[in-house]
Amino acid sequence: MNAPYQPIAVAEVSFAAQDVTRHFPVSGGLLRGALGPGDSVKAVDGVSFAIRRGETFSLVGESGCGKSTLARLVAGLDKPSSGSLRFADADQHGHRIQMVFQDPYASLNPRYRIGTAIAEPIRFQKLLPEAEVMPRVHELLQQVGLAPADTMKFPHEFSGGQRQRVSIARALAGNPTFLVCDEPTSALDVSVQAQILNLLRRLQAQLGLTCLFISHNLSVINYVSDGVGVMYLGRLVEIAPTRLLFEASKHPYTRLLLAAQPRLDTRGRDVPPITGEIPNPLNPPSGCTFHPRCPHANGRCQSEKPELAAQPDGSQVACHAVQERRIPVQFHTP
Ligand code: SF4
Repeated sequence: MNAPYQPIAVAEVSFAAQDVTRHFPVSGGLLRGALGPGDSVKAVDGVSFAIRRGETFSLVGESGCGKSTLARLVAGLDKPSSGSLRFADADQHGHRIQMVFQDPYASLNPRYRIGTAIAEPIRFQKLLPEAEVMPRVHELLQQVGLAPADTMKFPHEFSGGQRQRVSIARALAGNPTFLVCDEPTSALDVSVQAQILNLLRRLQAQLGLTCLFISHNLSVINYVSDGVGVMYLGRLVEIAPTRLLFEASKHPYTRLLLAAQPRLDTRGRDVPPITGEIPNPLNPPSGCTFHPRCPHANGRCQSEKPELAAQPDGSQVACHAVQERRIPVQFHTP
């Protein structure tokens, strides 16, 4: 079992995941014969972390690393196979947790005027008397930089960035304490991305929201996060405060991701592929699942799975070479 992200005093914790797994059973079809009974894909495989109230914790990793599956578990859209997800400030029905999706068009009903769409969670949760619902919708639209008159429009009448603003207004309508943002800007033009990120940051500060943020874009992660978890094949391999991660990363996978990121004078772009293919999650490598791609792998790495271990600077790293100091590591004060 992994130790929780530290140091966060218990009273400050807004959310804690403890040893969370999500395994998808696979059988039959094209894979019949290649798999044994009970085989499963371990999309999330023993993940533990905590988020301090009012902060943004981001998950980063290549496509297929399990970050979006984990986001859906945290948002309550799916159930973990095992482990616990605890919210300090949400009720048992999860009403105070809202999600902002990558594709705002897909998350808005095209037949609903957006006033109706934003009012829906207020009405569903009976948060306000009917007479106060539309004034609240107008207030929410203004909070996200749109106009009260926009209530009568349909989603197709907005640009991509405006639709994401509508989605954010809808998420805020339920008075959340916790927002899960799954790649909320990756479907948008670069110029619009910055506006939406700024909006999210401003709203988070104004409303005191805690956020779990998912992205494969390191520039975005660096801009929005207080802490970062790096995922590889369903596991967290490094957890660190953002500045530490970007200035003194330790895990070989994190270092490769960062080495490939664009410099500050260039625009953010997607994380490029690391040398070697992502292993088949149906048949993951033994030991450290990164070993076929890792320049520091040795015999121990092939046979023994590394667990997250606390480092002197407060980060956590799952790597034998870091633990053995086989590779040089820097320790900064967070
Ligand atoms: Fe590389 Fe071994 Fe560390 Fe895995 S445990 S990241 S293979 S050095």
